[in-house]
Amino acid sequence: MAELRGDWTAVHELSHLFHPYLGDDGRWLAEGLASYYQNVLRARAGLLDANEAWRRLDGGFQRGRRVGPGARMDQVGWSRGSTMRIYWAGAAFWLDADVQLRREHGTDLDRVLGRYSQCCLDSDSRLEPQEFIAALDRAGGRGVFARLYRRYAAMTEFPSQDAPYRALGISESDKDTLRFSDEADAVRLRRAIMGARPTDTAPAKSE
Ligand SMILES: [Zn+2]
Repeated sequence: MAELRGDWTAVHELSHLFHPYLGDDGRWLAEGLASYYQNVLRARAGLLDANEAWRRLDGGFQRGRRVGPGARMDQVGWSRGSTMRIYWAGAAFWLDADVQLRREHGTDLDRVLGRYSQCCLDSDSRLEPQEFIAALDRAGGRGVFARLYRRYAAMTEFPSQDAPYRALGISESDKDTLRFSDEADAVRLRRAIMGARPTDTAPAKSE
C-alpha cells in the first residue's frame, strides 16, 4: 500500500491520455501536463496531502530551474540534460493556465480538457502544439492558452512562478520551505486545485 501511495508513475502515464500526440516540439506541453496532474490528481484522490502536492510541484520547478537556460521550449525536443526543464517548465505552463482560468474566467483546466476530449480526442490523435492550443481555446479556454503559449514557447529561461504563487498564497520562506497564506481567496484557489484539505494546516477560523 505504501508503495502504491508513493508511486507517481501510474498517475503520470494515465494523465497522458488527456492530450493528443504532440511530437517533439510539443513534448514540453505533454510532459508538463502529466507532471502537473501527477501531483494534482494524487492530492484529489487522497494519495498525497495537498500541501505536500504543492511542495512536490515546487520541487519540480526547482529541479527544472537548476538546469539553467537553453533552447526555446518549442525547440528543446529531446536534447540531453534538459529533461527536468522540459517536464517542469511545461508543468508551470499548465499551472499558470489553470490559475488564470479559475481566477479570470470562472472555468478551469479540468473542464476545458474534458470538453476537448469529448469533441476532439481520439486514441490516435496527433496534432501540432499550436493546433492543440487553439483547440483548447475553442473548448472554453477563452484565449488563455494561446496567450500563454506564445510566451512560454519562446522562453529560454525557466518561467517565474511569481504570478500564480501570489494568487495561490504560496511563498518560499527559506530554502526548500513553502509557506501557505490563510487569506481566503488563496485558500479557496489552492483547495479548488488540489481538492483535499491539507492535514498540516489548521482549519480556517470561520469553520
Ligand atoms: Zn510522461
